[in-house]
Amino acid sequence: MERTLVLLKPDAVQRDLVGEILARLERKGLKIAGLKMMRLSDELLNEHYSHLVGRPFFPEVKSFMQLTPVVALCLEGIDSVNTVRAICGITKAREAAPGTIRGEFAMSVQANLIHCSDSLETAQVEVPRFFKPEELFTYSDALEGYLYNSS
Ligand code: UDP
Repeated sequence: MERTLVLLKPDAVQRDLVGEILARLERKGLKIAGLKMMRLSDELLNEHYSHLVGRPFFPEVKSFMQLTPVVALCLEGIDSVNTVRAICGITKAREAAPGTIRGEFAMSVQANLIHCSDSLETAQVEVPRFFKPEELFTYSDALEGYLYNSS
């Protein structure tokens, strides 16, 4: 089982798409290990988007991410990092594949609704960045055996 980090960005909150996006991820079979609403500090955003610090659009990305609280999720499942990435779609939402969250609901590079960890290594850093150990839950799910059917 892998755990991955998802953030439902301020455009998802403002457009009332939190339930829709969460339902899509949940219906796929991803288990919610952590879920909370939080405001992102400058410090947290500098760390989270450290690969973008110095890019001309970074200040705008930061203020966009602070427009409202975000919804942070830790999702669990076999190969959950790649699975969630595929469901999200590519960064440039206008070009994201139909059927993906960005492809279905977004038109912008910046306002692309959702963040998800891009690799297992990143997920292992991002999950503890956003969740304290006591905010993450391990529990059995009645349908898990049927969901994966041994593979
Ligand atoms: N972003 C932007 N303009 C750009 C590139 C990125 O506004 O030219 C924003 C966008 O919201 C994106 C986030 O910065 O989701 C992080 O960029 P990254 O390249 O890590 O893409 P992601 O992993 O979110 O698809």
